[in-house]
Amino acid sequence: MHELGIAIRIADIASRVAQREGVIHVTGINVQVGELTGIVPDLLRFSFKIAAKDTFLENSELIVHTIPAIATCPICELQFTPDGFLTICPGCDTTECSIIKGMELNVVSIAVVES
Ligand SMILES: [Zn+2]
Repeated sequence: MHELGIAIRIADIASRVAQREGVIHVTGINVQVGELTGIVPDLLRFSFKIAAKDTFLENSELIVHTIPAIATCPICELQFTPDGFLTICPGCDTTECSIIKGMELNVVSIAVVES
C-alpha cells in the first residue's frame, strides 16, 4: 500500500516541525495532494491513523486538499483539464502540452493547540 509509506513520511515531517517549534499537541495536518498523484485521500487518511498510532500525533487529523489537474499548451497557451496524463490540447490538438498542476504532494501546515 503506497499510501502508508506516504503517510509515514507526512507523520515524520509533522513530528519534526512540531518538535522544532516546541509544540505538544498537533490537532491537524494540512496536506495538498495533486489529482494525478494516484493517491486516494480516504486511503491516505486511514494510513495516517496507522502511522500516527501510539505517537503524539495519534489524535491529530490529516486534512487532505485535492489539487485539480491543469495542463497548458505551449502553442496556443490554452489551459485545460487533462484527461489523466493524456495532454492533447483541445484548442490546437498538439500533444506537447505540460502538466502544471496536479502532481503536488505537500505538507502545507500543521494546526496546533498553544501550550
Ligand atoms: Zn493549443
